[in-house]
Amino acid sequence: MHWHSRLVQPQTLAAPGFESLATPTYRGSTVLFNKQADVVDAWDQAKGGYSYGLYGTPTTLELSGRIAQLEGALHSFVVPGGQAAIALVYFAMCQAGSHALVPHNAYGPNKEMAQGLLKGLGIDVEPYDPLIGAGITDLIRDNTSLIWVESPGSVTMEVQDVPAICAAAHEKGAMVAIDNTYAAGVLFDAFAHGVDINMQALTKYVGGHSDLLLGTVSVNSEVLKEKVGATFKQLGLAVSPDDCNLALRGLQTLGIRLAHLEKSTLEVAEWLTKQSAVAQVLHPAFPSCPGHEIWKRDFTGSSSVFSFLFTDEYTAEQVEKFIDSLSMFKIGMSWGGVTSLALVYPNIERPGKDYAGRLVRLNIGLEQTSDLIADLERAIEVISK
Ligand SMILES: *Cc1c(COP(=O)(O)O)cnc(C)c1O
Repeated sequence: MHWHSRLVQPQTLAAPGFESLATPTYRGSTVLFNKQADVVDAWDQAKGGYSYGLYGTPTTLELSGRIAQLEGALHSFVVPGGQAAIALVYFAMCQAGSHALVPHNAYGPNKEMAQGLLKGLGIDVEPYDPLIGAGITDLIRDNTSLIWVESPGSVTMEVQDVPAICAAAHEKGAMVAIDNTYAAGVLFDAFAHGVDINMQALTKYVGGHSDLLLGTVSVNSEVLKEKVGATFKQLGLAVSPDDCNLALRGLQTLGIRLAHLEKSTLEVAEWLTKQSAVAQVLHPAFPSCPGHEIWKRDFTGSSSVFSFLFTDEYTAEQVEKFIDSLSMFKIGMSWGGVTSLALVYPNIERPGKDYAGRLVRLNIGLEQTSDLIADLERAIEVISK
């Protein structure tokens, strides 16, 4: 054999039998078959055998299996990010002429897709009040195929009565999907509360280190598995096995990180409730958060992201200066990593409410809380002079 050929088809191989604690990263697009008759092109490789890297390598499928186990799902689809997971849910559940419902406080890019791509395809996505509860029944039409819930909702943190919404939806034949990113898929047991599709951005708590983007869509029935699976295959939502490997590493410390973050975040939020500059703390574990009673009933804990509102003695310009005066808290999007973050939401749109640029969202990281509180105290002082 010419050495060029030998480079491509090597005859030496490392000995098998290497047992380690780390999950190997299997990269690969082409999958080899023993004979032509074995060639398949099916996404469900657990059932039909490996077919193509697009549908996952053993590393991807290991992550998929572990998320499914954690969430109590039949199957989890691993996709390139939380937003891709949202798209997968919409495209699996809706078609031209479908109606869907999405809460006002949903993740911004979800609403952007609803008013953009989906509208263009003839899918009608209607916003609703996240605190509507069983009242959602009046909004469900014959063609309502999907109801989103996100609890607590992005930025304004309203906790939804998910069991009541699910009961109303199922009565009228609609499916409920949750964006369960806040709870890392675990602090709120979505399937036990009646949800049909459990979606989360692994980018946040599972990754946990601000260095990867991944999402999951988990289902609990064969029918939904086939439905979402067909869409997953057609959309070609490939993920990098390297990113999946990082997510698998993140999973190992998810429990201990969430427990620590809950404690630290409660400490910082508690301190904020005592500041005269603060009008309201929007953290689900505090009675000042809309839906707090439901959080107590349905959740097993809280995580690291919450918001607070400055009193109306402060202008939007002062609040912006507050953000710029922080030093421990960095200014940036996303959350769930080890670093504390702060952002002001100047143009947050909620019907009947005007936050006037006074709403600040914090993500608490793994820094010492005394340093974080000192940072907040200093920045409040700067704008209060
Ligand atoms: C971050 C986030 C997403 C999107 O995740 P990406 O991986 O950044 O695409 C979706 N929903 C919520 C609630 C999020 O916070």
